[in-house]
Amino acid sequence: MVEPVSTQTRSHVAATLPHFFPDVLPEHLVQGCSDLPPVTAMTRQQVSDLLVSPTFDAWSEALVRVGNCAHPIRLRGRSETVDTATGEIVSTYSSEQQPLGVTHVRCGNRRASECPSCSRLYAADMFQLIRAGVAGGKTVPESVAQNPLVFVTLTAPSFGPVHGQRDGGRRCHSHAGNHPTCAHGRPRTCLASHAEDDPALGQPMCGDCYDYASQLVWQWWAPDLWRRFTIALHRLLAKHMGVPANRLAQVATVQYAKVAEYQLRGVVHFHALVRLDGPRTPDGFATAPRSIDVARLADLARVAASTVRLKVPGIDPADASRILAFGRQLDARPVRSSRRTDDTDRALTPEQVAGYLAKYATKSATDTGATDNAHHRRLRATARALAIRADAAGEESYELLGKWAHMLGFRGHFASKSRRYSVTLGALRRARRRAQTLIAQSRAEGRPLDLAALEADLLAEDDTETTLVIGNWHYVGSGWDTEAERVLAIAAAARAREYAQWRAQQRNRIGPKRHIVRRG
Ligand SMILES: [Zn+2]
Ligand SMILES: [Zn+2]
Ligand SMILES: [Zn+2]
Repeated sequence: MVEPVSTQTRSHVAATLPHFFPDVLPEHLVQGCSDLPPVTAMTRQQVSDLLVSPTFDAWSEALVRVGNCAHPIRLRGRSETVDTATGEIVSTYSSEQQPLGVTHVRCGNRRASECPSCSRLYAADMFQLIRAGVAGGKTVPESVAQNPLVFVTLTAPSFGPVHGQRDGGRRCHSHAGNHPTCAHGRPRTCLASHAEDDPALGQPMCGDCYDYASQLVWQWWAPDLWRRFTIALHRLLAKHMGVPANRLAQVATVQYAKVAEYQLRGVVHFHALVRLDGPRTPDGFATAPRSIDVARLADLARVAASTVRLKVPGIDPADASRILAFGRQLDARPVRSSRRTDDTDRALTPEQVAGYLAKYATKSATDTGATDNAHHRRLRATARALAIRADAAGEESYELLGKWAHMLGFRGHFASKSRRYSVTLGALRRARRRAQTLIAQSRAEGRPLDLAALEADLLAEDDTETTLVIGNWHYVGSGWDTEAERVLAIAAAARAREYAQWRAQQRNRIGPKRHIVRRG
C-alpha cells in the first residue's frame, strides 16, 4: 500500500520531545505529557541517536504506515495484485522496496495497555459496529432502529462482603447484624464513605470468610451462563408468541452484542445489547413482530436472566457440586431510538450504549489498575491451587483453570456478537484498507474522492472484488527495534489522539448548529 508520509505524524513526534528532554527545552513546552511512560537515561540517549540517524525518515514513514502502533509485526516478502478478469498483474509490492527492508504491520491488539493506537482503532470499529446494530448504517438497514432493543447488565452473585462505594456517599457497611466480628475476629462493619480511587474498593471485608473457590468456579462457567441466558430468552419469547421454541426463527430472531467487564472484586459483568428482529432471512434485520414491544422484551430478558441455573461439578470429591446463577443486580433497559415512541425516562441513546460497550471491549483483567492487590493475588493463587486439586482428582472440567489464572478464571470472549447483529469487524477493516488504497490513488492522481458515496462498495463482501492479492510473506519478529522507538510511537499516538480531540472541539465550536438531519 502506498501512502504519503504524513507531516502530521512528524509533528506529533516532534511534540513529544519536551517529554524526553525537559531540561533543554523551555519549561512551558513540557505539558500534557503525563500519560507517557517514564524515560530512562538509556532511552533518552536512544531517542537522540534516532533523531539524528540517517534512518529517521524511513523509521517515521514506517511509524505513519502502522498508525503509531507500539508493537508492530515485522514481515518480509512480496505480493502481487492480479486483475481477476484478465489475469494481468496490476501492481507488485515487496518489503525490499521499503527503506528499512521489512514491512511493518499493525499489531492489532485490542488492549489499551498493550498498544494505545491499535486499541483506539479497535474501539472505533467496535463503536461503529455496535452503533450500526442500534441505529442502522454501514450496510445495516436503518429500519433496524425500529426493532425493540434493550441494554442488559448481568452480574455475578455475592461471594462475600467487599468494601464498596454506596449511593449518596453512604457508609460502606454500617450494620453488623448480631455479631460485630466474623469468626476470624475481623469487624463486619466499615463506617467509611470510600472515595472513587480508594484501594480498599472491591477488597473483601475478610479474606478468610470470602468464598474464593466459588467465585472462580462461577467465573469459569460464566460463558455457559451467558449461553443459558440466550436459550432461556428464546424459550420465553416462543412461549409468549405461542410458537414451539424450535420454530421461533420463523417469526422472530434475537441478535446481541456483548462485552465482559471486570468489577473491582475480580469477577466479570456482562453488558449486552439484545435486539428482537423479525423472521430469519438471508439478509437479516427483518422487521420485528408487533406483538412484543421494548418494555416486554426488557421484562422477558429480566425473567430469563433470573431463572438461569447451571449445575456444575465440584473441584474434587471433597468439594460439593454447585448450582450457579446470576446475581440479583440485573438490569434491562430500553435503548432510545428517534423512531420509537415507547421511549422511557431511563432509556439510553445509541451513542451512549455504543460508546460504553466499545470502551469496555478494550479493557481486560490487567487494565483495571487494581490488579496487583492482595485480593487479586489470592484469586490467582486459588485458581492455580484449585487446578492442581482438580487434576489430582481427575476432574477434567477444571484442568485448565490454572492456565487462566491471569484472567482470574475467565476464559470467555471480551466482546462477541451474534451473526446478524450488525456489520462484522472484518468488513470494517477490509473497508479501511480499501479506502486507504483509494485515498493514496486519488492523491497520486490529484482527483477528489467521495468516500461516503463509496461506503457500500468498501464494505462489500470479498466475492465482488475485481482484483486478487497474492502474497508470500514470512514473519520476522514483532515490536520496534529499540525502547526509544516504542516510547516515541506511544508518545506520537498520544499526541495524535489529543490533536484529533482538539479538531473535534474546533469543529463543534465552528458549527454548533450543524447537525445531521435524518430523512425518512
Ligand atoms: Zn499496535
Ligand atoms: Zn469499607
Ligand atoms: Zn472472617
